[in-house]
Amino acid sequence: MEAIDIKKKDFILICLLLVIAAVMYGVWYFTSEKENLYVQVTVDGKVYETYQTDKDAVYKVETDNGYNVIEVKSGKVSVTDASCPDKICVHENAISSGGQSIICLPNKVVVSVIEKKEKNDKEIDGVVK
Ligand SMILES: [Zn+2]
Repeated sequence: MEAIDIKKKDFILICLLLVIAAVMYGVWYFTSEKENLYVQVTVDGKVYETYQTDKDAVYKVETDNGYNVIEVKSGKVSVTDASCPDKICVHENAISSGGQSIICLPNKVVVSVIEKKEKNDKEIDGVVK
């Protein structure tokens, strides 16, 4: 009888720990997602593409106006190359926090760092379209 009781108590304790761990993970998961930043590229006022900032990558934005090469590195976003004559966008400092943007006037390209509460890609697509 006593042995079974201890096992039951252990079982309840393990369950309790699992629940606490799950709740803590959930809290961490949601709080971390809220700070998610994305790179939003707009061309001529229309959203062209949205990229993640937590993944190092190089994206080429090609439009009728020309091209812009956008680099995401360690959460910092910069334009590394462009077809525009002034190259102002290329010389802009890298952006990394919500609300900042790099504008390329000749190509009508705006590269912005935006904050998204939703982590769901479909949600972003919904906003985009
Ligand atoms: Zn430019």
